[in-house]
Amino acid sequence: MPSSQAVISVVGSLNVDLVTRTARVPVAGETLTSESFDIGFGGKGANQAVACARLSRTESQATSSKESDVQVRMVGAVGDDEFHSDFLKSLEKDGLNTEKVQVLPGQKTGVAVIIVESESGQNRILVSPGANYQVPTEDLVEEDSTVALFQLELPMDVVLHNIKIAREKGVDTILNPAPAVELPNEVYQGLGHLIVNETEACILSGIKDVSNVNDWDKVASVFISRGVKSVIITLGGDGVVYQTNERSAQKQPAKVIPALKVKVVDTTAAGDTFVGAYSVAVARWKHSATGEKFDLDTAIAFANRAASMTVQRKGAQASIPWADEVPES
Ligand code: ADP
Repeated sequence: MPSSQAVISVVGSLNVDLVTRTARVPVAGETLTSESFDIGFGGKGANQAVACARLSRTESQATSSKESDVQVRMVGAVGDDEFHSDFLKSLEKDGLNTEKVQVLPGQKTGVAVIIVESESGQNRILVSPGANYQVPTEDLVEEDSTVALFQLELPMDVVLHNIKIAREKGVDTILNPAPAVELPNEVYQGLGHLIVNETEACILSGIKDVSNVNDWDKVASVFISRGVKSVIITLGGDGVVYQTNERSAQKQPAKVIPALKVKVVDTTAAGDTFVGAYSVAVARWKHSATGEKFDLDTAIAFANRAASMTVQRKGAQASIPWADEVPES
């Protein structure tokens, strides 16, 4: 019997964020007292998984995954250190399934040491991937997944192998190639959805000077010609440009969807919220199997509304909204 839940498998990183605020960064050999210190849970994988979970349930539904129509499965690794159990508990509180997070003996959970210099507003970030880089290259996406969502913070072999496996199993694939590094062409062949921001789009397409929608159309066409079915380029407050292989075959240009006009407080996690919301829309569509075409306009509008909530709040994971916090239209 088919499951009543769509399943999003998020194959990605888990990092503990150690955030220190200081008026200025100490010079070599100098010791300063910081303004504050906080521990948070992050990593692109975990952030996007949290976004998928929150945007498919209300906070009160979160502890009972059966009550939502979408199960979100975090797939990755942590170390058997002092951080991992609090990390997993925090994900479970958001309604995530953590059974596929491997706890690797003798390894350290990934850590991002973040120094925020309040005088200049600049961040300095040093990531120790730890267990993230020890995820084995094996089949991690299970048959019952509706959608598999990837970023590039795990070893490249793991990502490439599992995109291929997911495709072979008929699981829809979404890639958010962050951080942007050159990818072999086979990644794009048959990829369901590529979600990139401005910087990633330019690096990966090789097109540098982009100033208007015609230029973005060219950028999107590069990815379509490599075999991607839907390309979504997020341009912060300037909106979203998308193109599909079907539109392109009918000689229709890329389409622009405006961002919401809101008062921006902090854009951290905006991209992760967008990717999470879009993934929920894809999972619901694929699971419903009505045979109707995927409605990108509606999915992007939902993702824009969700991300517009995130930019109006401070923080990373803390700023990602629950489903009932996203305005209806
Ligand atoms: P990233 O955080 O990956 O660089 P973007 O800056 O493109 O990604 O932002 C992702 C999404 O967040 C946008 O597509 C939009 O929905 C929302 N967003 C970002 N900045 C703004 C803004 N200034 N106003 C409204 N929405 C925004």
